[in-house]
Amino acid sequence: MVSTLPLRPGLEGCQPYGAPELDVAARLNVNENPYPPSPEVIESIASAVAAAAAGLNRYPDRDFPALRSALADYLARESGVALPPEQIWAANGSNEVMLHLLQAFGGPGRSALSFTPTYSMYPEYARDTLTQYTTMPRRQDFTLDAPRAAELIEHQRPAVVIITSPNNPTGTALAQQDLEIVLAAARGNGPQDLPGQESTDAVVVVDEAYAEFRRPGVPSALELLAGNPHLAVTRTMSKAFGAAGLRLGYLAGSRELVDVLRVVRLPYHLSALTQAAALAALSHHEALMAQVASLRAERDALVDWLRAQGLTAHDSDANFVLFGPFPDRQAIWRRLLEEGVLIRVVGPEGFLRVSIGTPEEMEAFRACLSRAL
Ligand code: PMP
Repeated sequence: MVSTLPLRPGLEGCQPYGAPELDVAARLNVNENPYPPSPEVIESIASAVAAAAAGLNRYPDRDFPALRSALADYLARESGVALPPEQIWAANGSNEVMLHLLQAFGGPGRSALSFTPTYSMYPEYARDTLTQYTTMPRRQDFTLDAPRAAELIEHQRPAVVIITSPNNPTGTALAQQDLEIVLAAARGNGPQDLPGQESTDAVVVVDEAYAEFRRPGVPSALELLAGNPHLAVTRTMSKAFGAAGLRLGYLAGSRELVDVLRVVRLPYHLSALTQAAALAALSHHEALMAQVASLRAERDALVDWLRAQGLTAHDSDANFVLFGPFPDRQAIWRRLLEEGVLIRVVGPEGFLRVSIGTPEEMEAFRACLSRAL
């Protein structure tokens, strides 16, 4: 049937984004933390939510200073970079933070540049904000060719440059000197909407959704915030924190940048219940993140095991590993699923991505893959 709905041009034939949500024994397809919160943490979140429920007749705190302050404290502990709450922003997942960034800085006639293979949601945020989405391939080993990126930025003058570090689906971290090259190129090479207009900077977004899983010695882009008001670093409670269901993503950037995001957000976008639950969860950050070290160890052991099977497995600073190649990756994916192990078909042709689960889940994955090989 031909629809008579006035669908916006560009949305014809588009499908809703999402990986399969299947109830199987080992769910290793969306890079979640496999460990649920402890009874103690559940209790603490439940009582915080109950207290917030008592005030549900009122709209929530629009600017959530308490939560921004708690997120700033967490970042200071995690990365050693101390920031005031005014330099923190948050929304319903880092997905929504990225949407705010493109709503504020993208738009018709402007472009966003990212480096492939990378996270498959970026083109959707671009589409939804009428921003042109452009990409430059990463090197063979998935590192960023920063001098080439700098040339492209100077030529293209994008509004937003998105670099994922550690990158999804490859696990590759960004070298600090490469980020410095990109930040320098972005200065003065942002969009020019009218001829003769004063120059702008491109906003450089480093998506650090998986930062807590990085190996020792790998720095965070947060360290470069001072002196770079055009840098934004996004983080999330969905991964290392083990709180994907909470929907709490956040960003660190200059006051000027955060203030612009406040213009485009919906009023009261963070519900009182989300704010209360996130604050309670943050007060237990050590307990919630207790498994990060073991997930890292499990990841490194998996890379070694995959290589011992004669496969290519990429070094990872995240909680997943990209491995292959397979002449028919769909067939391997299906075979594993038949045995209750759900992984992801994503990334370069022939490759698959597996999230790091519990030791039992990883054992099931290894056993199934051995049988499939
Ligand atoms: N960035 C990257 C690179 C991701 O892989 C993900 C989740 N898969 C996100 C952002 C979004 O995370 P969330 O919205 O749950 O914070």
